[in-house]
Amino acid sequence: MSKGALREKGLSHDEIISELEGHKANDLKWRGGSAFSYVYHAGEDVERVGKEAYMMYLSENGLDPTVFKSLLEFDTAVVEIGLRHLNAPEGAVGNFTSGGTESIICAVKAARNYARKVRGIAEPNIVIPVTAHAAFHKAAHYLDMECRVAPVDTTTFKADVDAMAELTDANTALLVGSAASYAHGVIDPIAELGQLALDRGVLLHVDGCIGGWLLPYFKRLGGTVEDFDFSVPGVTSISMDYHKYAYCPKGASVVLYRDAALRHHQIFSCADWSGYTVVNAVVQSSRTGGPMAAAYAVLNYVGDEGYLELARKLKTETEIVIDGVESIDGLHIMGEPRMSLLAIGIDPGGPSPFEVADLMTELGWHVQPQLSMGDYPANIHLTIAPQNVGRMEDFIDDLADAYDRAEEAHSKKKGPGFNPAAAMLNNLDISSIDANAISELLKMVGVNGSEMPEKMGPIHTLLDSMPTDARNHVLTAYFNALYTS
Ligand SMILES: *Cc1c(COP(=O)(O)O)cnc(C)c1O
Repeated sequence: MSKGALREKGLSHDEIISELEGHKANDLKWRGGSAFSYVYHAGEDVERVGKEAYMMYLSENGLDPTVFKSLLEFDTAVVEIGLRHLNAPEGAVGNFTSGGTESIICAVKAARNYARKVRGIAEPNIVIPVTAHAAFHKAAHYLDMECRVAPVDTTTFKADVDAMAELTDANTALLVGSAASYAHGVIDPIAELGQLALDRGVLLHVDGCIGGWLLPYFKRLGGTVEDFDFSVPGVTSISMDYHKYAYCPKGASVVLYRDAALRHHQIFSCADWSGYTVVNAVVQSSRTGGPMAAAYAVLNYVGDEGYLELARKLKTETEIVIDGVESIDGLHIMGEPRMSLLAIGIDPGGPSPFEVADLMTELGWHVQPQLSMGDYPANIHLTIAPQNVGRMEDFIDDLADAYDRAEEAHSKKKGPGFNPAAAMLNNLDISSIDANAISELLKMVGVNGSEMPEKMGPIHTLLDSMPTDARNHVLTAYFNALYTS
């Protein structure tokens, strides 16, 4: 039998299920609360409700909401909950999608088609702050639109409204602001962006993928939360993920519009082929009913009081981290985070955040390094979720430890550390870099084929030393090799 071929006789149920259990061995261990990001876990009971509801509707198909009426009901119900949560006016609408990326693609597509059909713009562009999620670049890439990137303030990391105004022209379809931004957890000046959008006659999307659900709870708990939802004049659409801080199984987000006339431009219909008539509100066509049913179930299971209680714990735990970080000499919190997303910065002259991150890995934690970009320094990102609650005092102790060790090693080094890969890169013309050069570079920092190295620091340091187009080039080649078939 050749490698990779389908086995001739199928395995038994028990055999394949236990084999699958085995495959989990090398995955990120998130249940103990030592890992940040990726998983938003509100407890075993919430997880069970989500899983059961998901399995009940696993086989149903969201392809045609006129056939599976249950799915249309779930879609409508979770959109309605989202609209009320975000103070949408009468007549506002929305759709359930598979995640933030799909919600954003839908919003950008609606804006593009609105600009073309209603405003007669042949080549509409979007204007985003540099802190806007990569999904906007992806949407512009897929939809073949120009994506204009404005700088943000280098101390607050909030969108610079003047810089965005400067990039806005007669071909601009959409402005974007985040509430909150993933990297630093800050809220962009949405009210001012709304005013700019109204002045220029363009649309404004608020990316509430990660903050849309949680921020109103933080506000109710006394947190500072600037207005960001439909109550702000000029905001025309919002994306909000239920699979983040609403703790629904993955594959759950909504894209919301101030009115149905705008959402009209999101919908795709095709009567121009010989098969069944295709009408898709979102990007996906055939899709499992699982995520919709699960989102409906989890939202109704946890309820408003439950979410408020979960938010209270998260808020307290986040404050422990903020105070803890500020108490460590040499570290600081970047900007003024409004929710449970933090970027930990290293004071000038200190060690590399990538080394601190590697030392934290040694101590059993999993943090998320963020690369530098021009004037915005590299840092360590934390997305704090309920499974981390109760662990953050230990985290701060270990962070202080890791920082001290990194600082000690750093101060012993004479001059900047020598990175052979970065040195090689300096002598390379990025535009001529080929697959061979990339594989050589990756070998220098410990990446061999698709195997991951023990330390990620050297890789991050290498990437950090490259211009962004070279980073994209190397990362694309790396993924092309990672998926070995
Ligand atoms: C997570 C996130 C997205 C993308 O969402 P996915 O569900 O990963 O596709 C977009 N914007 C922000 C601010 C996010 O945090």
